[in-house]
Amino acid sequence: MLLIPCPWCGERDESEFCYGGQARVSYPPDPWELDDAEWAEFLFVRDNPKGWFAERWVHTSGCRRWCDVLRDTATNRVAGSSRPGGALPEVAV
Ligand SMILES: [Zn+2]
Repeated sequence: MLLIPCPWCGERDESEFCYGGQARVSYPPDPWELDDAEWAEFLFVRDNPKGWFAERWVHTSGCRRWCDVLRDTATNRVAGSSRPGGALPEVAV
């Protein structure tokens, strides 16, 4: 069982959330300049690290708000969360 700390509601069970993929993916500043391959890479290619990873989650069964969660993909340990784009906890790698 994974407990996710919603910034608004506090710690809740994973079953109340839906995963939204990698957090903090910047929209291209000049999307009209990208060719099809570059646009496809922006849309579909994400990091897939073993270790700490900033992820987007939405609290679907709670406040219905999005948040950023710092989770270790190898151990499922959660270091903390923030409102989208907010400060996430520092973790030792
Ligand atoms: Zn919530």
